[in-house]
Amino acid sequence: MSIEVQHISKTFGSFVALDDVNLTVPTGQLVALLGPSGSGKTTLLRVIAGLEQATPAPGIDSGIRFHDEDVSHTPVRHRKVGFVFQHYALFRHMNVFENGAFGLRVARPRSRKLQIQERVHQLLALIQLEGLAHRYPSQLSGGQRQRVALARALAVQPKVLLLDEPFGALDAQVRQELRRWLRRLHDQLHVTSVFVTHDQDEALEVADRVVVMNRGRVEQVGTPDEVFHHPATEFVMHFLGQVNQFHGRVEEGRVRFGNLELPFPQYAHNQDGAARVFIRPHDVTIDTKTNGLPSIQATIERIHSAGAVVRLEMRTDAGQLLFAEISQERFATMHLTYGGTVFVRPRHIRVFTDDYDNCTRSAPLSI
Ligand code: ADP
Ligand code: MG
Repeated sequence: MSIEVQHISKTFGSFVALDDVNLTVPTGQLVALLGPSGSGKTTLLRVIAGLEQATPAPGIDSGIRFHDEDVSHTPVRHRKVGFVFQHYALFRHMNVFENGAFGLRVARPRSRKLQIQERVHQLLALIQLEGLAHRYPSQLSGGQRQRVALARALAVQPKVLLLDEPFGALDAQVRQELRRWLRRLHDQLHVTSVFVTHDQDEALEVADRVVVMNRGRVEQVGTPDEVFHHPATEFVMHFLGQVNQFHGRVEEGRVRFGNLELPFPQYAHNQDGAARVFIRPHDVTIDTKTNGLPSIQATIERIHSAGAVVRLEMRTDAGQLLFAEISQERFATMHLTYGGTVFVRPRHIRVFTDDYDNCTRSAPLSI
């Protein structure tokens, strides 16, 4: 079942929580809504579920469709959605089995006892908690409780599964395990799912497509690769991982920033002017000599070498902080020290400029 969100806005008093959101979630996909706190993710999920009504915009054709059917006015209980929230809403006085059966009994009051038993056992097998059917929520770990919450959401065979920061309250290692587990489960079930998170790693790892939200608007929709490698806006560039930013200029087919000036033929014949230049920490080469190549001189302020890569913090002569990531192997050959001088050579940059209509354009440059 596909989900179509068409021109949805939502205001609380004068505050605009959703501002003309358009979105398609194709059948069977797992889509992440990614954005900072307050960007409207939960509100959008609640509008999709029917827990919240969109604010009508006169003269605009707006609504929520499930597989071509307009459900904008369909009450929650008839939309066939399953929910999982950040704070597990398990019933404390019911054991795992009863929690799973509860949804079934409500949705299908005429189900026979044996049918319910069979279905709940299927679900417990699916979430790999068969042995824990008689435990109470207080006897489970946080991760196990969220798996039970997911089983309960799936009990009624929802057409759409909505998850609001389901792993938000768990610690880092359990989160990572559960993300992979959720992805495998989704590959088995193919229920159209919308997953809210403010954690970019989680979104990039789990989702088929990522919807980046900011201030109630959709900034970009794309595969994890697309949003990471081809960010459409400066917000997306900033939000998906650390980035170095320079204020520079594009002029006569060249881009200038820091003390660098590079040929930039994409901009040869138009829109000379101010530019914002972004460089990811892994897109630079660090050297102790210039080797005659364009580079930015900087002083090392910090070295974090306990990790898969070595992270460096450096300061340019102009006082700007720069971040770089280099491999452990390269680090081992370089003898870098605090206060030492290095030359930072960008290998890949992304340039954002404003055109005459004040539209932002972006272009990559590999050096
Ligand atoms: P997110 O889930 O991305 O953190 P939300 O959708 O929860 O963001 O909230 C978006 C904005 O809307 C926030 O600024 C929040 O304070 C506001 N908001 C959400 N629900 C309500 C409400 N019922 N009344 C007033 N403001 C609300
Ligand atoms: Mg939220």
